[in-house]
Amino acid sequence: MRPSYDVVVIGSGFGGAATACRLAQGGYSVCLLERGKRWSKTDFPRSPAEVAKCFWRKDKSLGFLEYRAFRRIDVVQGCGVGGGSLHYFNVHLRTPAEIFSSRAWPREITRAVLDPYYSLAENMLDSAPLSPPAGRELPRRTSVFLAAASAAGRTAQLVPIGVYTGSDRANPHGGGAQSACDYSGNCMLGCDLHSKNTLDLNYIPLAEKHGAETFPLHEVERIEPIDGQGYRVTYRKLDSNNPRLSQPGSVVGRKVILAGGTLGTTELLLRCKFSHCTLPALSPRLGCRFSGNGDFILAGAMDTDREIDPGRGPSITAGVDCSTPNNRIFIEDLGYPDAFMWMMEGVIPGENRLISLFKAVSTYISSTLGNGSGRIGFEVDKLFRGGATTRFLPYLGMGTDAADGRLRWNGDQVEIVWSHRNSRQMFREMEQAMKELSRGVRGRYVTSILWHWPFRKLLTAHPLGGSFMGSDPDTSVVSHRGEVWGYPDLFVADGSMIPSALSVNPSLTICALAERVAFWILHGRDMGPHDPDRPATH
Ligand SMILES: Cc1cc2nc3c(=O)[nH]c(=O)nc-3n(C[C@H](O)[C@H](O)[C@H](O)COP(=O)(O)OP(=O)(O)OC[C@H]3O[C@@H](n4cnc5c(N)ncnc54)[C@H](O)[C@@H]3O)c2cc1C
Repeated sequence: MRPSYDVVVIGSGFGGAATACRLAQGGYSVCLLERGKRWSKTDFPRSPAEVAKCFWRKDKSLGFLEYRAFRRIDVVQGCGVGGGSLHYFNVHLRTPAEIFSSRAWPREITRAVLDPYYSLAENMLDSAPLSPPAGRELPRRTSVFLAAASAAGRTAQLVPIGVYTGSDRANPHGGGAQSACDYSGNCMLGCDLHSKNTLDLNYIPLAEKHGAETFPLHEVERIEPIDGQGYRVTYRKLDSNNPRLSQPGSVVGRKVILAGGTLGTTELLLRCKFSHCTLPALSPRLGCRFSGNGDFILAGAMDTDREIDPGRGPSITAGVDCSTPNNRIFIEDLGYPDAFMWMMEGVIPGENRLISLFKAVSTYISSTLGNGSGRIGFEVDKLFRGGATTRFLPYLGMGTDAADGRLRWNGDQVEIVWSHRNSRQMFREMEQAMKELSRGVRGRYVTSILWHWPFRKLLTAHPLGGSFMGSDPDTSVVSHRGEVWGYPDLFVADGSMIPSALSVNPSLTICALAERVAFWILHGRDMGPHDPDRPATH
């Protein structure tokens, strides 16, 4: 690593990968610091024992998934070169125009302004509705979800996803070999075929081709301004064999871009403001406007009138707009990886499971004693067939929650202060829509276990806000260009800059906003649809 760069980017998820790539293409020297590991496709967990190791546990294991539990809402997020793309469900939706017209957003950001950046991101992520690989049809879960919506009087559609289904190829952005999706449904556990268009297959290799240097296992702890020359970024270099061991180090960036994700970026800024006191003039609003994007996970329809086998196929394939006059609501089908489906099969007591087990064992014993046919295949087959999850249609709901949570510094780490009180009406309307979908396939609507009394808790995969955009430092943390109020050349480009729920999966919007942050740094203006300065994407 050199002692200084034009730009230091912290975090290599959607915001970090896009800014690093565009600024490197624009001729800047770029250093990309990422706390997680770089994963090759053969490293991803497949067996249950390996799955246990895929979690990030501070100072213990350096997996690519981090689950953080707070009082009223839990958060799942990514860590690794490629950030959340390593485990995400590949959906790329443009945020509805009316979201940007809410007062929470700076007036400079509209859907029309963002559309050219959305196009850039879609091109890089190779985003398209699922086209089944050769010899396959749409997954059963998709067809059942479409039928459920239609029976409920609604029209569901395939959503654009970044999943490759063609013949073997080299990724056009330079990220190596890809094979067609095999419907294993393991999107959340990393894709061992590289069918998922993760950021380490597109933005990151393109950035590296233009000279950007990526440093995995570098966790940033502090940012400090150095008189008119940028910022000193101090990190801990983690030892992959023993995460307790780390070496300190630092690098100077004439510009610094925070892209550590909603929790990562806001936590770092809170630490610099309150513990290190290196960025004391940060806005008093730092930490506000936290939103879970109205996520409602772990709900679904049980005992549907047809088999679904929900683990098969890309993890999300279709969605339906269930907005009401009060709220925007979007519901998608949701598949879980094999390992989770098997765990659910074991936990949910299946009808006749014990009887089948008893019959299999007694047939085996009597055959061993010379009294039976010796053919136990039939009983064993019944033991594994028709479990509770084969007729389960899981949902992911997203909607306009009130975005009134707060990320607070407790002296050691970030805490989330969150209540669903002001979002209750939206969740009621969302559950109503989920019940209608469930009736469409004669299923029994089951709600998230976390949502039951006494927990009344939510789980979000889409945390947003905390270091949010706005028109002035009294009411927001960064400008519409992502520059931190009071700290020139310090930028935020990730989910934390988003000031409201989006009501759809956020990665494409995060990417588009990051493209915009980079374009403004390079050109000092917005990009138009046919702009001669539009970045080259291949
Ligand atoms: C199971 C799951 C499925 C999802 N599916 C979808 C989907 O289908 N579509 C969609 O749009 N969204 C999806 N999401 C959400 C999506 O992954 C996130 O919204 C997105 O990754 C956020 O992008 P980001 O740039 O803000 O941060 P991230 O992608 O989270 O990247 C932040 C990176 O910064 C690193 N970092 C943090 N702090 C530091 C530090 N101090 N020093 C160095 N590095 C640091 C992290 O390790 C991480 O790699 C899903 C999320 C989950 C959990």
